[in-house]
Amino acid sequence: MATPTAIRPPGLTINGRSVASAATLPVIDPSTGAPFIEVPSATPAELDEAVAAARAAFPGWRATPLRRRQELVASISDVVRAHLDELALLVTTEQGKPIGNARGEIGAALRQVDFLTGVTLDPEVIRDDEGAYVEVRREPLGVVGAITVWNYPVLVAMFKLVPALVAGNVVIVKPSPFTPVATLRLGELLQEVFPPGVLQVLAGDDDLGRALAEHPGVDKISFTGSVPTGKKVMASASGTLKRVTLELGGNDAGIVLDDVDPAAVGADLFWAGFSNSGQVCAALKRLYVPESRFDAICEAVAAEAATVAVGPGLQEGVKAGPVQNKPQLDRVRELTAGALAAGGEAFHTGEIPDGPGYWFPTTLIRGVAEGVPLVDEEPFGPVMPILTYRTVDEAVARANDTEYGLGASVWSPDLDRAVEVADRLVAGSVWINQHPVVTATVPFGGAKQSGIGVESSRHGLLEYTHIKVVNVKR
Ligand code: NAD
Repeated sequence: MATPTAIRPPGLTINGRSVASAATLPVIDPSTGAPFIEVPSATPAELDEAVAAARAAFPGWRATPLRRRQELVASISDVVRAHLDELALLVTTEQGKPIGNARGEIGAALRQVDFLTGVTLDPEVIRDDEGAYVEVRREPLGVVGAITVWNYPVLVAMFKLVPALVAGNVVIVKPSPFTPVATLRLGELLQEVFPPGVLQVLAGDDDLGRALAEHPGVDKISFTGSVPTGKKVMASASGTLKRVTLELGGNDAGIVLDDVDPAAVGADLFWAGFSNSGQVCAALKRLYVPESRFDAICEAVAAEAATVAVGPGLQEGVKAGPVQNKPQLDRVRELTAGALAAGGEAFHTGEIPDGPGYWFPTTLIRGVAEGVPLVDEEPFGPVMPILTYRTVDEAVARANDTEYGLGASVWSPDLDRAVEVADRLVAGSVWINQHPVVTATVPFGGAKQSGIGVESSRHGLLEYTHIKVVNVKR
């Protein structure tokens, strides 16, 4: 196996130390389709060791004043910024995205730090009179298992570990087996920041995720991944009634109203669906366009698609990388072939590099409707169907006719009209003239089967706490 000498396999982080496990996991560079590194893969005994270290660290971390915890969390930014080039290179190599986007992912992740190191968690006094004093406190839960996914490995890990630590929990991060490298390295870099056992990182396969979700020494699972896996996590967590936050898949609809100027929205509509090569949970995945605007919208979206160079993330000028892994590539191929077999027309098909690598061309499809799996299911790749509708009522009904409820969008220069349509869409977020927008200060989560709970903002922070009431009789 060709291992670039520049990339040294990082260890697991257990109890403040780097550990090279007896077991290993190969990690593939999706732009070549070949393994580029072997990282340690935690054994069941190493999981037990990490959970024991976490439990031992919890009382001290919980007793550390919030301000001091926030100071330590704030130094995550210093450490990460000092290693930004290295971490971005790891993200690009294992995930595939262009290097500028990898840097952007890490920068966006650090905004969690900026926001959550400024919050307070003061008790809420709900009664204070001659009869009683009652306050509601927010207490940490204990050991948090953070199970992450491969589309934004560093961002998803930071969206979990930052609020969990600020709230006074200790954390074990388990990255996706497809993209463990940058997260393991992050764990190593942060060993100098936190006391042993406060933040640990264990790479491993799906069995390790299940063992973490079942472990009696773990108090909460924060999970990002697919709906079927989210259901398994919830079942595993039920054994000890662990709290869960589940950030799951979506099949987000966007509804273009008949007053849009196609040229004005074409580029934004395209990137709503194709950012990170379409591998975004809340990407635009079904675009509903009135018949009167259909040809012009298709043309405007395709015009932007034509500007996109797909290639290896380190190559100059590349705007989109490969699909991250082979199973996902197979799925995107299958959904696209199914849509074409059902009479769909690929009215834009981009170029891809020759040779190995998990390449799929930027593909826009029309001439399909509900009943075709590309429309009904989540492709999570660089292909998007554009559908026609006759009335807004019909578009709203079709947009809502899904088990998913992550995001949705409405596109119109008439904001009042757009908000009226947004009112009728069932989703965790509805964006107007944009899609998706996920930031540290705004809650993000799914309705229906797209998840339970939210991340980001004060709402997301509170998911790492339980309410404790102190009720004093006077
Ligand atoms: P997946 O569900 O297969 O895997 C995600 C993680 O779960 C991995 O770390 C994996 O090892 C672990 N895992 C697998 N089986 C497990 C089990 N039984 N118990 C515990 N952990 C287990 O993820 P995928 O399908 O490859 O990822 C794509 C999906 O993730 C898409 O549906 C996408 O929309 C979704 N996603 C959602 C968000 C969000 O914030 N809502 C963000 C990114 C991706």
